[in-house]
This record gives sequence, C-alpha cells and structure tokens, in this order.
Amino acid sequence: MQQRRAFIRQISLLLGALTVSSPLLSNSKNARMKDQKQYDVIIIGGSYAGLAAAMALGRALRTVLVVDNGKPCNIQTPYSHNFLTNDGKAPSEITAIAKAQVIQYKTVTLLNDLVVRSLETTAGYEIELANGHSYRSKKLVFATGIKDIMPAIPGFAACWGISVLHCPYCHGYEVRRQKTGVLANGDVAMELAALISNWTDDLTVYTNGPSLLMPEQMAKLQKHNISIVEDKIARIDHENGYINHIVFDNGSSKSVSALYARLPFLQHSSIPVELGCQLTPDGYI
Ligand SMILES: Cc1cc2nc3c(=O)[nH]c(=O)nc-3n(C[C@H](O)[C@H](O)[C@H](O)COP(=O)(O)OP(=O)(O)OC[C@H]3O[C@@H](n4cnc5c(N)ncnc54)[C@H](O)[C@@H]3O)c2cc1C
Repeated sequence: MQQRRAFIRQISLLLGALTVSSPLLSNSKNARMKDQKQYDVIIIGGSYAGLAAAMALGRALRTVLVVDNGKPCNIQTPYSHNFLTNDGKAPSEITAIAKAQVIQYKTVTLLNDLVVRSLETTAGYEIELANGHSYRSKKLVFATGIKDIMPAIPGFAACWGISVLHCPYCHGYEVRRQKTGVLANGDVAMELAALISNWTDDLTVYTNGPSLLMPEQMAKLQKHNISIVEDKIARIDHENGYINHIVFDNGSSKSVSALYARLPFLQHSSIPVELGCQLTPDGYI
C-alpha cells in the first residue's frame, strides 16, 4: 500500500513538472545558456522518486538539477526485495545504478547537498543549499520522501528495516514461518495480524499496554491461534539490529525473529509546507 502511494505520488509530481512550457515557445534556451544556474526543473530529493523523475525529464530535454543529501527512508535496511530486476540488492546499490543511468543524460546534473530554503520568484523558484549556493528553476519537484517516527522503545530504531519491519511484501519472505510479533493495538493490530498471518503461524500481537481490541476482535485472533501480550515493553534486545527478545517492564521477555510495526510519519522536508503546499489528512503532499 505504501509502495503504491509512493508510486502515485511520484507520477503526479512528474506530470506536474512535465507541464514546463516548451523551450520553443518560451525561447528560454538562450537564457539558460547565459546563466548555467537556471534550470527548467529542480528536483529536491534524489533517491528513487527523484531519480525516476530526473530520467523522464532529462530524456524530455529539460535541464534538470537534482539535489539530494543521501538520507533515504530505507537507509538502514540491508536488502530490498520485491522490486523486479533489483530483488535482493542493497538500497544503496539500487541508487548507485539509478544514478549511473541518469547521469548519462547531459541534461541532468546531480548535487550532493541539503536544500535549506526555497522561495517562489516571478520566474519560478529559487533554492538555497547548505553550502550557500543558490539555483533557480521554472518548476520544482519535491521527491523528499517521508520520515518514520520511531517509538521511544530502546532498541527499536536500531532494528528498524532489519528485523523490525514495516512491510511483509518487502521483507516477510526472509522471516517466513518464524516466531513473529506485531507491535500494534486496536484496529491496526487486527489489520496487521490478518495480513502477516499469511507468512507465519507463530504470531503474537504485542499491544504495549492495555488492549484496545474489541471482544470480537480478540475472539477472532484467538480462533487463529494468535496470542495477545498486553505488557508494557521496556526494550528490544538485539544484535546489530537483529532482534533477540522483547523485554517487558515486569522483567519478563519473549523471543521473536521479526516484529512488524506501522509507524506514524512526517514529511522529510518542511520546505513544501513552507512554500504553501497543503498536506492531506494522512500527511502526504
Ligand atoms: C525500512 C524500509 C525498508 C524498505 N524496504 C523496501 C523493500 O524491500 N522493497 C521496496 O520496494 N520498498 C521498500 N521500502 C520502501 C522504499 O524504500 C520507498 O518507497 C522509497 O525509498 C521511496 O522513495 P522516495 O524517493 O520517495 O523517498 P526516499 O527514498 O526516502 O528519498 C528521499 C530523499 O530526499 C532527500 N531529501 C529530503 N529532504 C531533502 C532536502 N531538503 N535537501 C536534499 N535532499 C533531501 C533524502 O535525503 C532522501 O535521499 C522500504 C522502506 C523502509 C522505510
């Protein structure tokens, strides 16, 4: 679902950028040649979405500047899966291949830096980088992604993307039929448990405090041999991100090989909102 949303977001951003007026109509080619810092499109964020947009725009003969500071949401995950032609590759390897392909287009420039500010100008947009340089463009694409907000459970963040997982389609096969937990409560717990029970019969829901599940939901979980643990979690014991135990406030612990969680998130960059972009109630642009 998250992947599908990301894809839809990516396509709509790209379509917006492709509406840059034709160089033939605007006669902007000469202006570009005078000032190398003026681009048709600046893309903030050069991970998968930003590089995909850069390839399409570069091939459409738009001059494109991609600025990225190298902090994608999947930075900690050792291997990506379920991505045809790249199954099992490290995320950084996929990005390196994408960069090598995109940079073949002379119309595309990649910069490794952080965009700290952006403002609307009469001719489009201006961005300022952390190194103090600024660049102008007619259109701006945000491919800045989202940032997952980690719960304050010691050990959780260190395991994120390694053995604490967000998506069974991405990582479920690798931990199939193993002792698995779902860290969630109420309706989300029901939804995740139903989904993840496809990958394992050894599933426990950890509600991390009193259960918010309705009696009929509890009965349904019990019917499918999915147990519920309501103890408050103190920490996650792990080795290099690979989870060993969930340890509870009362001193008890449970061993698991994988734990699924659905985290709240924020936009990675505040620039879209500062520029006046509206967020959906879910937090997407
Ligand atoms: C832990 C984890 C594991 C995953 N595993 C898989 C998997 O196995 N298979 C799969 O298909 N999908 C997986 N995903 C989903 C996949 O990683 C995302 O769908 C994808 O990374 C989204 O790409 P994106 O370009 O939109 O955002 P991101 O990849 O998050 O990239 C956003 C980029 O924008 C940059 N940026 C943000 N603000 C600025 C700024 N102001 N200036 C400069 N640069 C900026 C960031 O540094 C970052 O590089 C996983 C996600 C997570 C969180």
